[in-house]
Amino acid sequence: MSGAVPVGGRIAGGGAEADRRAGTVLCRDCLTRAPAAMRGTSLRCRACGSPRVLSHPELDSLSIAHIDCDAFYASVEKRDNPELTDRPLIIGGGTRGVVSTCCYIARISGVRSAMPMFKARELCPDAVVIKPDMAKYVRVGRDIRERMRALTPLVEPLSIDEAFLDLTGTERLHHATPAESLARFARSIEEEVGVTVSVGLAPNKFLAKIASDLDKPRGFSVIGAAEAVSFLAEQKIGLIWGVGKVFQQKLAADGLTTIGQLQKMEAVDLARRYGAMGLRLASLAHGRDDRPVSAHRETKSVSSETTFDTDISDVARLRAILRRLAEEVSTRLKAADLAGRTVTLKLKTPDFRIITRSRSLADPTQLADRIFRTGEDLLKAAAEGKRFRLIGIGVSELTDGTRADPDDLVDPVAGQRARAERAVDALRSKFGKQAVELGLTKAGDPRRQRDR
Ligand SMILES: [Mg+2]
Repeated sequence: MSGAVPVGGRIAGGGAEADRRAGTVLCRDCLTRAPAAMRGTSLRCRACGSPRVLSHPELDSLSIAHIDCDAFYASVEKRDNPELTDRPLIIGGGTRGVVSTCCYIARISGVRSAMPMFKARELCPDAVVIKPDMAKYVRVGRDIRERMRALTPLVEPLSIDEAFLDLTGTERLHHATPAESLARFARSIEEEVGVTVSVGLAPNKFLAKIASDLDKPRGFSVIGAAEAVSFLAEQKIGLIWGVGKVFQQKLAADGLTTIGQLQKMEAVDLARRYGAMGLRLASLAHGRDDRPVSAHRETKSVSSETTFDTDISDVARLRAILRRLAEEVSTRLKAADLAGRTVTLKLKTPDFRIITRSRSLADPTQLADRIFRTGEDLLKAAAEGKRFRLIGIGVSELTDGTRADPDDLVDPVAGQRARAERAVDALRSKFGKQAVELGLTKAGDPRRQRDR
């Protein structure tokens, strides 16, 4: 099958006949199209000899891509410190004490993201551990996203380091097929940004996302329409995006573990059993997905909340917790390059009643200070000595981060605070989070002064 293999497919035999049957390939290293050469059972570019070639019957007709940076945070740190190149590297140990990203060398020892740090250190005692430097990753992520937007305006970011792209109709602009543009893009990110990406090319988002994961790192995989059903049949249901652990367990309890089993079921039966999700499963199991790549944000809100061990009524304590939550929300907004106009405070009473209070701002924000102050105002009005078992804060009405927090003409002090927060972000990206927390708290971050 010329199929869903990480492309560079294999053809049995050798010699001139095999060369002829291999046809032409697109070389990911020299970016030329050349007749393939066979070396043993693997395809090579006849122009430069590279084995990193693309060959697929649908290569020139597919235009939906998923691009995902490889071990992004770790790659950025390795780029910036060549001494780390050949060492196992773990980014983590922040507030939650878990691995946030690890390089591929650390993965050989079994380290994985979201693993507790103590376990990661056990598995890989000689790993270098670095605290995440979000501001830096946001900058690099933004740069890569801008480069994606030069390929096509239809870029749908999923996170700081991955996005869907629809390259339909871009051939004339780039004088290249989508596959060629994507290969060129991957090479330019390596050469100009200094990190690597993996590309998945397919007829739709569902298959493109699966494809990008098949051959990491530095991968380029194609899943064509013709092979989608047979490729999916072998896979576990967990591969389907949106099928969480709980739903997987439910399906497993009903005897369903592979996508092939879903393919054999009637859509009406799946719908009867699992409602709307059942219908969706029926389509996805056959590789059908008609969701468009949308440059508009799919995330509706970003929020953070915490439940207390014992109920709290002390407003000062609630405020302190609220500040931490606002900082978390802000970090996530900045990481995803988002900003929101509406701030919502959420409280839950001991009898599980939920109270929400919202306020719309003049401009979208991604700053911890603005989110906190807005939440603080809402808290003052809502708390009044009552006890609560939960507090949360969220930001909605999301837009692009580039439109966040313009200079405030009405309130120059607010503008000052915004600049201070940005300065802290910039310093953190240079010297690390810890250094700045200690340094600026004393040196007079206006947020902290006001608190004393
Ligand atoms: Mg990634």
